Amino acid sequence: MRLPMFAACLTAVALGMLGAAPASSPMPSLPAATGLNFHQKPQELAASCDAAIATAKATYEKILAASADKANFSTLEAIEKAGADFNDATAVPGGLWELSPDKAVRAASSDCFQKVSNYSVEVQSDPRIYAVAQRVTALADAPAPAGAKLVEYYVIGGRRAGAGLDPQTRKRTTALFQQLNDLELKFAQMLDNEVVTVAITPAEAKSLPPNFVATLKKTAQGYIVPVDESTYGQFMLNESSSAARKRFVIAYGTRGGVKNVQRLQEAVAVRDELAHMLGYPSWAAYQLDVKMAKTPDRVESLLNTVSEKLLPKAQREIAALTVFKNSQGSPGPLRRWDYGYYENKLIKSKFAVDDQAVRQYFPVDHVITSVLGIYQKLLGVTFAEIAPADTWAPGVREYSISDTASNKPIGWFYLDLYPRPGKFSHFANFPIRPGRVMPDGTYQKPVSAIVGNWPLPAAGKPTLLDHEEVITFFHEFGHLMHSTLSTSLYETLYGTSVRPDFVEAPSQMLENFMWQPSILKEVSSNVKTGEPLPDDLINKMIALKHVADGYDWSSQAFYAQYDMKIHSSGPKIDVDTTWFDLQKKMTPFPGTPGTHPEASFGHLMGGYDAGYYGYLWSKVYAQDIFTRFQKEGLENPEVGAAYRKDILEPGATVEPDVLVQNFLGRPMNPEAFYRDIGITQ
Ligand SMILES: [Zn+2]
Repeated sequence: MRLPMFAACLTAVALGMLGAAPASSPMPSLPAATGLNFHQKPQELAASCDAAIATAKATYEKILAASADKANFSTLEAIEKAGADFNDATAVPGGLWELSPDKAVRAASSDCFQKVSNYSVEVQSDPRIYAVAQRVTALADAPAPAGAKLVEYYVIGGRRAGAGLDPQTRKRTTALFQQLNDLELKFAQMLDNEVVTVAITPAEAKSLPPNFVATLKKTAQGYIVPVDESTYGQFMLNESSSAARKRFVIAYGTRGGVKNVQRLQEAVAVRDELAHMLGYPSWAAYQLDVKMAKTPDRVESLLNTVSEKLLPKAQREIAALTVFKNSQGSPGPLRRWDYGYYENKLIKSKFAVDDQAVRQYFPVDHVITSVLGIYQKLLGVTFAEIAPADTWAPGVREYSISDTASNKPIGWFYLDLYPRPGKFSHFANFPIRPGRVMPDGTYQKPVSAIVGNWPLPAAGKPTLLDHEEVITFFHEFGHLMHSTLSTSLYETLYGTSVRPDFVEAPSQMLENFMWQPSILKEVSSNVKTGEPLPDDLINKMIALKHVADGYDWSSQAFYAQYDMKIHSSGPKIDVDTTWFDLQKKMTPFPGTPGTHPEASFGHLMGGYDAGYYGYLWSKVYAQDIFTRFQKEGLENPEVGAAYRKDILEPGATVEPDVLVQNFLGRPMNPEAFYRDIGITQ
């Protein structure tokens, strides 16, 4: 019932780099309605990537040939359009590196991604674009609210990219940003392509669910278990051998290897140098300057509140679990690799909730259909599956989205839900092509994907999910709706490009739905009988919701604090020893010797650096937003419509505090959050 490592998910960084997010230009020869071409050969992909960069360069040169003194808001709009066109044209060639099943395509795409990233750094730090943005600020001729917000983003973006520095210093910051992109790419590639396994004996396989064992490779000595997110839960909750669990935990904690530890160490130094050159005391200060939290002090204060109140609770939970373990004929202390197994056992015996029994109610097909059904009702949209799907890999499903009331088409999305070699290793929403107003006045239809790693099904059987996996899907679909239902005029202000410490709020709010009895009945259907979850099981699951709050939240506070610490303590801070020191201080378990979990902490190298606290920060907003659904009805279409209009559609055009105030009719209040995690203020 526990997440393997970090928070439920991340919103993946946009596939492209400029402005908000990427997309692909319509390619006339294609049959797919989206206009996206996922079938280019490596050479074609490289050629379209180079062509897109050449086109962007020529377009920018043309726009910027005139002196900045003559610029006005239309000039900035032309710059914005050039960036959006570039993102559209490079989204697929630069995005397949962690999606394609073909190794050569992934390699070509990774080259493209690197070129796109480097070129984007050059554009963002271009002093001529910065001068235009400053000139337009002075003119104040941008229409409010979207135009004015766009100008603001360009000024801030330019300053933060070094566009205001002298040429010599700017040369150095540009090189450092490019070095950073390179480190982040290699860190992610290491995780996507690494194959980590543990070997178990036939005796050790006995306690594992038969459906799970059926997916494992058999050898003369037993079985080979892949060690990744798709196997973590099933293995750690059910494996009865402490020695086997320990081997799994160590293998899980060494993913990414020493090389990724070095990459993170190097990134921390590069970020620190960049922050100083750009006038900030630390990378954390640099990152927070454009977030809601604004300063590291405000983040510290939230993390300390959560940690101080919940660590004692975590310690009490562990003490109780230790007593339980000892009562089961297993003397000695409770170790990290014992936690999931004994918690699961305790839940089974004390609360009579069996994770395998719960899984029987969540066969994937029913979960997908019913989750999509809830979103359709709630947000007034209609999804239709497209067959045959035109995608990047077999098994990926494609859907169209339209507005139910007007029947107008809105966009498309893909579901890519199972692991395969070389694929992105987490669970996230990938905004592929953002919406925006095109020069002819039409609205470009957005395209998004959910890319995940659900457990593979055993031959001839459907995958059965646990409750946590259902919640993750519901959460990610919330991001997908945020990036798809945006009506923002500009790509830079599109959907999930809101302040980064607000981006999780809509999805975290939606997670609450997956704890409501009526909704749980809707998404469940016993694989044999078709019956929904019975009331008594639902009541027991809900009773368990807060059973491990202490451990969960103190872990979250630890991850966030680690992220803040390594990004605010200078270039020399040791990323490995800091992990172990803080873990000992902030969580009930010391780190496991021989592991280096920071090497697979993808958030720190995937856009959440000095930003992991955002999960906690947005949760405060999420719980308050949910109070209106609680009051006025979970599936009340009026509230759903208000949520779509007030929270999702404006994207970054409106500041998060205003979005929330518009929806609630009052300013945000943290009370609901503190109540939810058992802290009474
Ligand atoms: Zn998320």
